[in-house]
Amino acid sequence: MAFLPRGAVFLSNFIPEEKIEEIKNAADIVEVVSDYVLLKKTGKNYSGLCPFHAEKDASFTVSPAKQIFHCFGCNTGGNVFNFLIRHDGVSFPEAVRLLARRYGIDLPVRKMSQAMREQISEREKLLAINRMAMEYYHWNLLHDSYGKKAMAYLKKRAMEPSIIERFQLGYARDSWDGLRNYLQNKRVPMNLMEKSGLVIPRKSSTGYYDRFRERIVFPIYNLNKQVVGFGGRVLDASLPKYLNSPETPVYSKSKLLYGLHLARNMCRETRTVYIVEGYFDLLALHQYGVENAGATLGTALTAEHIHMIKGFAEKVILVFDGDDAGIQASLRSVGIFIEKGMQARVMLLPRGHDPDSFMRKYGLEAFEALADKSSSVISFIMESAQKKYGLSVEGKMQIIEALKIPLASIQDMGARNGYIKEIWERLGVKEYDIREKVDAAAAEMQKADAAHRNRPAGHIQQDDHSKRPFMKMGRQETIGSRLERQIIAMMLQYPEILPDIIQDNVLDHFGSETLKSLGNLILSLKNEKDRQISNLISIVDGDEKRNILASLSIREEMWNRKGCRKVITKFIQNSPLRYSVSLTEQIKAAEKDNNQDLLFKLLQEKQNIAVSNERQKQELTK
Ligand SMILES: [Zn+2]
Repeated sequence: MAFLPRGAVFLSNFIPEEKIEEIKNAADIVEVVSDYVLLKKTGKNYSGLCPFHAEKDASFTVSPAKQIFHCFGCNTGGNVFNFLIRHDGVSFPEAVRLLARRYGIDLPVRKMSQAMREQISEREKLLAINRMAMEYYHWNLLHDSYGKKAMAYLKKRAMEPSIIERFQLGYARDSWDGLRNYLQNKRVPMNLMEKSGLVIPRKSSTGYYDRFRERIVFPIYNLNKQVVGFGGRVLDASLPKYLNSPETPVYSKSKLLYGLHLARNMCRETRTVYIVEGYFDLLALHQYGVENAGATLGTALTAEHIHMIKGFAEKVILVFDGDDAGIQASLRSVGIFIEKGMQARVMLLPRGHDPDSFMRKYGLEAFEALADKSSSVISFIMESAQKKYGLSVEGKMQIIEALKIPLASIQDMGARNGYIKEIWERLGVKEYDIREKVDAAAAEMQKADAAHRNRPAGHIQQDDHSKRPFMKMGRQETIGSRLERQIIAMMLQYPEILPDIIQDNVLDHFGSETLKSLGNLILSLKNEKDRQISNLISIVDGDEKRNILASLSIREEMWNRKGCRKVITKFIQNSPLRYSVSLTEQIKAAEKDNNQDLLFKLLQEKQNIAVSNERQKQELTK
């Protein structure tokens, strides 16, 4: 069949070591992280707002020389693979594959054994199925005689062929089993097909039928340009007008914006992203050269959306077409913008226009001029509340009610006061009347916040992933003594000292088993290349050790022999082990002299030390 898609065979999990090496050498961590975090150069390193926890200061640091990242706020760290695994929630092979594709490195495709087949993660399988479905729908639109109707519809909406190609638009035929049969021929198991959300089990009998029928199909991509789900629009007036994939292991509408996978470059240039409400709105913007845009998928903007956008833009412009319902729904997310420190503006199109019709009638320049005149979210709320409630005494109180929560969520007191002043001047009410309401709302929010923070760690909400690293990493700072951490840092950064570490049995004096095992690992690696921090990080097991390694090597410390020796000497002198060695010697002497009193005292002390060491050890391994 002509439409047999490429890559219909699932890739195996097995990737040869030398390929991983090649990819690691080709990948640049600054470049990869820059896809998600706005980085600024600070000295030898780069820094930005951490994507793994909510913060206002840039504690997230990337070292191009060492090819690692580390956050001083939440202690997350690692190499380029760990970043993708953590950020995108992908498996290691998937992270390798993403980078291979990005840097144009071919990965060998192997014929798989049954065992290997079973190993492939479900996620990867679902992505492969989505890809096949996208190719099927696209082929149907372009080549199938059935697709003519859909093509005519797209033409009527003035969609250019280049846009159809860029977004791989497709067509689902008027058939109950077109896609199902196609995937069945590709030997896709039924249970996976169902999990992908593309087919639905019949209620009245056995079997499955296609979810999307007689619709234009929009593949939805994640930031890695993988197809994670689909949207479908009818060609006539039937309902529902739009249908989306259900939530699946790879598709979550609260974390995705349609079109954002193509938006990053222009977002970075302009520092701005437009948010529109539908597929066609987004495609219209692209058609007119506005690529820095994303469309919500039938949901209001969420904190997760903002978090994602923050990686490449500083300002959001919400584009609304004159109808009220959409505006009200979207303004519910105002607090999130302010909370996340994101500039947000509202751009209102003239009544009766959507981005598509506006662009067609007035063109890009008029669109941009309107964007320049967009108002801040707060003034927008004030204006729309004013329109709704009027300026009677009662109306003014209603306006203040509508504004109190957005205002209270502004952390920056200067900014908050600025808005409050603007409002009392405009409404002609007493400043006190506003301030009282806003302060009360702020106190309420603070109380809710504190309650949230004090909840036991097990109670983290599912969607609260920005806080998770804190919970996990809280203990890390206290691992080992300061000197022990310093010694590991020196071993990482100044390998010339390694012979001294061996000779003086420095690691034997370590109280922390974790740091000791890291030290031993460093010593066990014979060549310099293996000891390179980005390699070392991929050898250790567990997030904790990885984070420790990243945190100990990210700082640019100037080590020299003399300084290192000083640390080692100080450490050994203060070590409990050294004390117990000298104690053992004293005990021997006391025995020899038959000094019973002294012997009793010394033995008691030895016992005390043993007990306290044991306790310390238990604490460290807790
Ligand atoms: Zn962080």
